[in-house]
Amino acid sequence: IMFLSTSNLTKSYNTGIITHVLKGVGLEMKRGEIGVILGPSGSGKSTLMNIIGGVDRADGGTVEVDGNRITDLNNSQLVEYRRESVGFIFQFYNLVPNLTVAENIEVVSNISKKPLKTDEMLSAVGLYDKKNRFPRELSGGEQQRVSIARAIVKNPKLLLCDEPTGALDLETSRGVLSLLQKVNEQFGTTILMITHNSAIAGMAQVVFRMRSGEVAEVAHNSEIIPAE
Ligand code: ADP
Ligand code: ADP
Repeated sequence: IMFLSTSNLTKSYNTGIITHVLKGVGLEMKRGEIGVILGPSGSGKSTLMNIIGGVDRADGGTVEVDGNRITDLNNSQLVEYRRESVGFIFQFYNLVPNLTVAENIEVVSNISKKPLKTDEMLSAVGLYDKKNRFPRELSGGEQQRVSIARAIVKNPKLLLCDEPTGALDLETSRGVLSLLQKVNEQFGTTILMITHNSAIAGMAQVVFRMRSGEVAEVAHNSEIIPAE
């Protein structure tokens, strides 16, 4: 039984010309897996992830997460799904600049039903000693670790990461990726991650390669991923 499955997802934008961004996307992941989405710019990766995370709606097709059909939810149910079940991590951290590290995490835990403890999250990401600092006082890698703590404090079933290391140097990226692996192991969180870096695919159990609005290729753990 699959934890996450999408079937025949379609999405178009009309900006004068109609762009078919998703042309029938299907993918499946088991609970607790790490999945990676590779593919060139404009192939629909972010659109797909936004639909899975309930921040955008598909034109057609279905998304199921942990037995719930997300594509059937009304707007308020979708807000609830997003708030309780999904953690988001972005390339540019999206921390609130005038809140401390701890307060940034509490923005999320304060609206969650069963939040984990802020101090435990800070320890997990190695930033307990910086809890009263402001984002601008931290390095890029540290800010991304805060955003990981903020994403997991609600104990989400699913963690969606859009280019989480896109703004970081190689060394710092390694630290962020191994932290995500630790989250996956420690909390059993299923992780789906967009990246341009095919080296990152090595940490995934499943790799989806997108090409112009379709999943062109699926590879499971030990299979070799050809370069872009
Ligand atoms: P990727 O993440 O693979 O770079 P995206 O999902 O961001 O791809 O975008 C896929 C295509 O959809 C691009 O051509 C992009 O310009 C278009 N697109 C994305 N969002 C919108 C939007 N809100 N309005 C119009 N076009 C959009
Ligand atoms: P990295 O190379 O890992 O991105 P930096 O060189 O940016 O790290 O920062 C190294 C250390 O200095 C980090 O622990 C960071 O918290 C601290 N630091 C960076 N900028 C500031 C600042 N403006 N105020 C206080 N501490 C800072």
